Amino acid sequence: MQDNHDQKAPRSAHAAETDGHEVLLGGERVAYRLRRSTRRRTIGLVISAEEGLVVRCPRRCSMARVETVLHEKGRWILRKLRQMAQARATRPEWPIAPGAPLPLLGSELPLRVEAGRGSGTGMAPRDGALVLTLSPTLYRRLDPARLRGHVLEGYRALAADIIAARVAHFAALLGKTPRSLNIRAQRRRWGSCSARGDLQFNWRLVLAPPLVLDYVVAHELSHMRELNHSPRFWAWVARLMPGYAEHKAWLARHGAGLFALNETPHPRDAAAPTEAARALAPQREAPPQPVTPHMGMDNSFAAGQQPHQQLTLALQGG
Ligand SMILES: [Zn+2]
Repeated sequence: MQDNHDQKAPRSAHAAETDGHEVLLGGERVAYRLRRSTRRRTIGLVISAEEGLVVRCPRRCSMARVETVLHEKGRWILRKLRQMAQARATRPEWPIAPGAPLPLLGSELPLRVEAGRGSGTGMAPRDGALVLTLSPTLYRRLDPARLRGHVLEGYRALAADIIAARVAHFAALLGKTPRSLNIRAQRRRWGSCSARGDLQFNWRLVLAPPLVLDYVVAHELSHMRELNHSPRFWAWVARLMPGYAEHKAWLARHGAGLFALNETPHPRDAAAPTEAARALAPQREAPPQPVTPHMGMDNSFAAGQQPHQQLTLALQGG
């Protein structure tokens, strides 16, 4: 993101800025900068992605007056900070282009696009690449603007395979057979299990480390024994997956980062080779695109924070 400091007029020589202030708003500690200026008569608040909360006030303004304003505007401040954290979580971080790295099971692989024999769209890791297979017709007529959609479709197909295998593994340990398994693109849920044993999982789990995916599968399957989050339920989870707490914590901390790969176009998307370029150099791939860190986001946008519904249990909250 661009730093805007250079675009601002130089601050008055009589302005003074101090960092490291903190105020308690609704039980949350909120850090802010204080910018005093001889030209100001009132207190103003600005929230930006670059600087967070900045309080502008007259040169001789008391801290008590500043705090009063912060408390008066507390709900607005918290709402804005939360919105910004959410925007960070859903901001597209992954350009989709041949050769560009994409996440899978906690690591990254360069994307390769190939024509397959069948009619469907598939995806699989192969020879150090994440290979997206399209039908020959689709491959020939590939519209670069639609590559992102095909990649997401491929992920969903791959997630169905991977998750089905893990469900089979843990179901055998549990001694229960689920009635159905669906892979979905939920916005705020990692998985759910109904009283009848209908399982649903979020495809984005295949972006997380394998043991994190395993934890979610073990969690939802354990609901076939206990449809609640009682100690008896957690004992089942621990039986299927000793040491699950570490992976549960990973999800709470980094889960929002898994939403950075989404439908929103990225400025560096889709340098898919044209038909002519493909004919000339069928194996050529675009150079790898630089990628920004994405898995370690520390904001509080967490999937699965909704209250539980009758039979469908959200992942968190228990
Ligand atoms: Zn649960």
